[in-house]
Amino acid sequence: MQTDSLGDRILNGERRALARAITLVESNRADHRAQAAELLAQLAGAGRQSLRIGLSGTPGVGKSTFIESFGMMLTGQGLRVAVLAVDPSSARSGGSILGDKTRMERLSRDPNAFIRPSPSQTHLGGVARRTREAIALCEAAGFDVVLIETVGVGQSETVVSEMSDLFLLLLAPAGGDELQGVKRGIMEMADVILINKADGDLKATATRTCADYSGALRLLRKRPQDPEEFPKAMTVSAVEEQGLAQAWDEMQTLTQWRRDNGHWGANRAAQARFWFDQEVRHALLARLDTPHARALMDQLGTEVGTGQTSPTAAAERMLAELTGGTR
Ligand code: GDP
Repeated sequence: MQTDSLGDRILNGERRALARAITLVESNRADHRAQAAELLAQLAGAGRQSLRIGLSGTPGVGKSTFIESFGMMLTGQGLRVAVLAVDPSSARSGGSILGDKTRMERLSRDPNAFIRPSPSQTHLGGVARRTREAIALCEAAGFDVVLIETVGVGQSETVVSEMSDLFLLLLAPAGGDELQGVKRGIMEMADVILINKADGDLKATATRTCADYSGALRLLRKRPQDPEEFPKAMTVSAVEEQGLAQAWDEMQTLTQWRRDNGHWGANRAAQARFWFDQEVRHALLARLDTPHARALMDQLGTEVGTGQTSPTAAAERMLAELTGGTR
């Protein structure tokens, strides 16, 4: 009953209902999980889709400044923008990269924006599911754009890129030597690399850095499904709000191309299959994490160690136990 009305309020785009629903999907309580599942099933029927934009960059590169300026530009065009964060290494400042209330102050007051701090103290596996479910809730609430922010800590970029339609990498102006510092894998994920802080004294360096990355991008593996000029590097200034409209144009061009050529839907379908596979794996691994399973692992481990049972036979017994003997 309660989730029904919550669902309706989300479909009406009510931000408070959306916030409550995200709290529900973030909860580990079994009754909350059940309610969340029911709610998500109800909302999936609405068939609404946002443009999901992943955004990564190391601390200090200007992510929150960029999201605020870029988000304000989009809401200024009448679009509704949601911001979510994925932060698996949330030890800093008590947990949440968006927890500081002074971040994105203007955007957080905008009635067409919704900003959700990342839940603290979570594992990457749990973060992935919660973020996917939070995205689904934002989509149902009618947000046109969902920005998913992550700090550059390696694995989290992969998680975010697997749930995004577009992936942005934000970089700071730097000398040529520092180009090496960006891992190839992260560069390969990016659809658009934005060199931020292209203003004042940093402008010339930013332009040079952009040229360096444009060169580096040309050397990367081609993506046959995208137009020739992608992935591309551009300069922006989040503070001076320069280059943001051009960046948005490029994102729209790429999105439209992918839609027109069937790649957009194919990508979402592949992502859904990927997450299904991940969920099954996680669920199976979770079954190993019970007192009974751990005790059995210990016991079988001892038997294997003494040669009493073969590793294969022990594994089969373990699996039979985990899957209720149906294997
Ligand atoms: P985050 O840690 O990636 O979220 O970075 P912040 O958005 O908090 O920005 C870090 C610092 O860089 C702050 O002092 C910002 O004022 C500054 N900054 C962000 N964007 C720009 C920009 O476009 N130009 C300049 N000059 N500074 C910027």
